[in-house]
Amino acid sequence: MIVIRDLSVSYGSTRHGRFAVRGVSFSFGTGISFGLSGQSGSGKSTVLHSIAGLIGHWEGTIEIDEQLQYRKRKPTFYRHVQLLFQDSNSALHPRHMVETSLAEPAIIHNLEDVDLRVGAALENVGLEDNIRYRYPHQLSGGQRQRVALARALILEPKVLLLDEPTAGLDMLAQAGIIKLLNDLRHRNNLSYLLVSHDIAVITELCDWVGIMQSGHLVDVQRTARLLAGVNGLAPYTQKLVDAASSYISSHAGTKSSVL
Ligand code: ADP
Ligand code: MG
Repeated sequence: MIVIRDLSVSYGSTRHGRFAVRGVSFSFGTGISFGLSGQSGSGKSTVLHSIAGLIGHWEGTIEIDEQLQYRKRKPTFYRHVQLLFQDSNSALHPRHMVETSLAEPAIIHNLEDVDLRVGAALENVGLEDNIRYRYPHQLSGGQRQRVALARALILEPKVLLLDEPTAGLDMLAQAGIIKLLNDLRHRNNLSYLLVSHDIAVITELCDWVGIMQSGHLVDVQRTARLLAGVNGLAPYTQKLVDAASSYISSHAGTKSSVL
């Protein structure tokens, strides 16, 4: 269970005033995928980074599996909560072979059978075992993102925090990562908190969505409701859904599996 109460973050001054995120509250249970969507600059990544422990200057309450989180996180946090960001290059050292990047977290956490774990992690994300001998620049964007995911999974986390995990990938690679993330969640009973500006990605990957606008959480909905075209969505949510569906219908055939 993840509980966020009254989360506020200030970077000094932003476009929307002092707070990049103001009074955000939401919660979701184990095995659930909760999405955060909204325009660029609305504060989605700031929420995710606060939960990830990458930002220290947040105010409010962050609770993960009944553990209150403080600025300094316990070592177990770094095992149970893993991150996957848009730019997999930031997770993978350019001069390290895939094998080295995958082994590193296992070694840091004193796990046994590192070599077996590396093999299993590659298999888990649908990559051939010989990928372990490649360097990041020898992989496609989709393969790199799979390696970054394997690196996150090697510690057998419970929670994945994902920031625009499919942005920057071509349509086929994006579809592959979406399917993989869905499979992995169900296979391992993972909880996801997933940030995407793309409502279509959110509806593919999430059970619930929170909509951010200018640092505030303005709506929380079941994604099934967005797909069903029901009345009663907050006006801003409706606007995002309409924009996404008109984009998709005008690109019919290139992105037919979503919305
Ligand atoms: P989103 O992920 O929804 O695009 P962000 O959380 O990245 O939004 O940004 C929210 C607001 O905070 C924006 O106005 C952005 O310019 C500002 N911001 C984000 N990161 C920083 C930072 N490190 N320093 C100063 N301002 C920041
Ligand atoms: Mg962002």
